Amino acid sequence: MSEIILSRVDLHCHTNYSDGSMTPLELFKHAKEIGLVGLSITDHDTIDAYVESVHLAKELDLLLIPGIEMSTEFHGESIHVLGYAYRPNSKEMMQACYLHQTRRDARNKKMIERLSARGFHMTYDEVKSLFPHAHAYGRPHIAQYMIKKGYVSDMKEAFKRFLGNNAPCYVPGEKWTTEEAIAIIHKAGGFAVLAHPHLISHLRLVKKILELPFDGLEGYYSRFSEQENNIYISLAKQRALFVTGGSDFHGTVKPHTPLGASTAPQDVVDIFENQMKTHMRESHSLI
Ligand code: AMP
Ligand code: ZN
Ligand code: FE
Ligand code: FE
Repeated sequence: MSEIILSRVDLHCHTNYSDGSMTPLELFKHAKEIGLVGLSITDHDTIDAYVESVHLAKELDLLLIPGIEMSTEFHGESIHVLGYAYRPNSKEMMQACYLHQTRRDARNKKMIERLSARGFHMTYDEVKSLFPHAHAYGRPHIAQYMIKKGYVSDMKEAFKRFLGNNAPCYVPGEKWTTEEAIAIIHKAGGFAVLAHPHLISHLRLVKKILELPFDGLEGYYSRFSEQENNIYISLAKQRALFVTGGSDFHGTVKPHTPLGASTAPQDVVDIFENQMKTHMRESHSLI
């Protein structure tokens, strides 16, 4: 097996445009402090952090790859799909984000109704007002509101008792199929990557999902053991997929996961950078 050279680029980070705690600028400064040379903001169902902060990354001499994490469903299981190096002005991507944010709103309201019925007084507007920068809201926002109100003591309790997938106030909501998310990313000129495969219930199902037209697999994730890396790296090789890597950094929302805990192989960073150059050339030739 040819040796994999890891970069100093973390391809899985969240900001306060979804459920991370840092602004893009705080994230970039932190990345510089710990010696990263680049990153991708993979907020849930919004690309607005990239659009609004790409100039700040440039000023700090950080490579910023457009990213997104889309919530999908495959055979009843929740599957996260990462999209990278798409055209940042892609209408397909923007419309998909907008549609999914409205679906998230409808579903969050239902979860809040269930919580209210259990005596936890809250409205969706109150939850949102705690996170004025967010463009896509989800369970971590509701959980943090509950902690602030003293309804639960921490995120773990919020998910275990109320919001987790098997808990009584969970509402799955309408999701993309995994195929649809891949198609959106491809239409936007990007690469589709299966996120954190170790969270999928069976390796069998991972193999089945990888029959879809994915381009890559997240083979380095947070604090994966070497053994876990090897499983996914071999699988990617068998399927001719590239391997990405990142921490899934959320700041104080997931304090046990530091930025840069995993980084991506250099060859995939080069592929994404070249793709961005191609998009740039194409957009200039249209002018
Ligand atoms: P949502 O996108 O609204 O379905 O929320 C999913 C997010 O909630 C995930 O990306 C995680 O960040 C977080 N999450 C899911 N399960 C748990 C859990 N058991 N404890 C803490 N955070 C969780
Ligand atoms: Zn998240
Ligand atoms: Fe995820
Ligand atoms: Fe994530």
